Amino acid sequence: MADTDDLNARLALLERRFARERAARKQAEALLEEKSRELYDANSELRELAGSLEGLVAERTAELEKAITQTKAASHAKGIFLANMSHEMRTPMNGIIGMTELLLHTDLTDGQRLQARTVLDSARGLLGLINDILDLSKLESGKFTLHETRVDLDDVVDGVMDTVAMLVSDKQLECGAVIAPELRRRFRGDPLRLRQVLLNLVSNAIKFTEHGSVTVNVVPESWEPDGVRVRLTVCDTGIGIPRSAQGKLFESFSQVDGNSTRRHQGTGLGLAISRSLARLMGGDAGLHSTEGKGSSFWFTARLGAYPERLVPDEFEPRRLLVASRSEALRHLLRNLSAHDEFDVDFCGALADLPTRIMDVDAVIVDFDSMPELAGDAGIEILNDDDAPAIIQLAWRGQAHDDLPDIEGMRTLYRPLTRNALRAQFEESADHGTHAAGRHGGRARGARLLLVEDNKVNQMVARAKLEMLGHDVEIAENGQEAVDAAAGGGYDLILMDVQMPVMDGVEATRRIRALDDADKSAVTIVALTANAMKGDEERFLKAGMNDYLTKPIDTDMLHKVLDRWLP
Ligand code: ADP
Repeated sequence: MADTDDLNARLALLERRFARERAARKQAEALLEEKSRELYDANSELRELAGSLEGLVAERTAELEKAITQTKAASHAKGIFLANMSHEMRTPMNGIIGMTELLLHTDLTDGQRLQARTVLDSARGLLGLINDILDLSKLESGKFTLHETRVDLDDVVDGVMDTVAMLVSDKQLECGAVIAPELRRRFRGDPLRLRQVLLNLVSNAIKFTEHGSVTVNVVPESWEPDGVRVRLTVCDTGIGIPRSAQGKLFESFSQVDGNSTRRHQGTGLGLAISRSLARLMGGDAGLHSTEGKGSSFWFTARLGAYPERLVPDEFEPRRLLVASRSEALRHLLRNLSAHDEFDVDFCGALADLPTRIMDVDAVIVDFDSMPELAGDAGIEILNDDDAPAIIQLAWRGQAHDDLPDIEGMRTLYRPLTRNALRAQFEESADHGTHAAGRHGGRARGARLLLVEDNKVNQMVARAKLEMLGHDVEIAENGQEAVDAAAGGGYDLILMDVQMPVMDGVEATRRIRALDDADKSAVTIVALTANAMKGDEERFLKAGMNDYLTKPIDTDMLHKVLDRWLP
């Protein structure tokens, strides 16, 4: 019995345990179910999230793709904008500058003249700035191309000297340029860009020099089988540049100090452009400077060989005596005379002058550094019947009514260049004064056809051409130009490139295809506001002979006409 009781007790125990375990299992199952549900829910949420993430990624990718396309379009648009801007901005500037120049040739009161001059200066300043910004962006984006043609270094240097003559006069600086004689021949290169860099360095030198001199030296740095590397150096006796500032000067927008620059004006782009241009021309640019003493900025460029017909130089060497005590002038003339054409001697004492002047072909007198020359004793020496030619030095634009009355005295204007000095002897001896005007008369009175659709440009160009003494007829577009050229009788055609109805390139092709050889061979010069990559080749290929960029620079116009007119 006891066994049965015991068994029952164990059974009951087991049943209780079983019941407990079943309850526990149920609980566990419920828990499991709950957790599975939670897991399921979480999983669904995750799946949903993954779904929306994929959507998001796709959306972002699409946005990015759109942004890339937009950036590409913007960059392309920037390129086109750049090309168009040069045209769109230069054309109205041409109108403003040209019209103001014409206005200045009319009768104006002093006040009006001053106002018109201010408009002209401001417009030129603005054009300079526009050109700088355009040049820099083209240089930085690698879109800048050189227009290689014939280079005559004398012309480049004389052009720069001519441009700065009035600035030099205002500050009464000694100024001149010396070119090594072996460089006096034609080369192949981009004369406009050489001029641009040199003009920038010379303008800076004048801007930062209050006393003394600014001189340009041009020498061959090395000869190469098919050309030469030239080095152009501009030395000044100006404020100089502290060593710490020298390193960064050739970077864009870099100036020595904001204050002095605000006084001197400028953007800090000139040197950056100069160096980039020099590098594009196969050279480089740099400087040496001592603060308080002066600077010398240099650049080099590679020039190619240019076939030339050698013309014998018939200029006979001259003996000059320079009556001056100015060290800067002596230095400059010593350099100018280093090349055989002039044998220069100096005299700084009035007492020595009478004997010294007897041995020379001409005396250059510098009244500024030897004022006693204008006194009675001086005048008597210079007026002596046996005295050679007397040449006084002057600054262009400066009044010199108070100068002594010396028989047949000529005037040599600063900046001093070899050509200016030679011109003193090449003029007819009985000519008395320096009369060979800058636009002297070889190519006058020609019959020209001006092809231009813009009325303002027509007026400006016509007035400039008429001022040079030419007869001008106008054609409004390429078709009219072809018709006019078919009639014949023109010495030269100035052809705008972008025109309605028919552009200048097409018109040139058609003129070149005319049957009559006389008519088809007429000289055609392109007028272009946007000289961009490949333009010159395109113009020349179409049969144009030369090109001028707008706004038309009167000196350049004169040079081109001089080159082509019979
Ligand atoms: P900008 O003349 O328009 O300021 P540049 O790039 O031509 O720009 O010149 C940059 C700076 O270099 C000038 O502002 C000036 O501080 C300094 N500089 C250039 N040339 C000379 C010079 N010949 N003498 C002294 N400082 C100069």
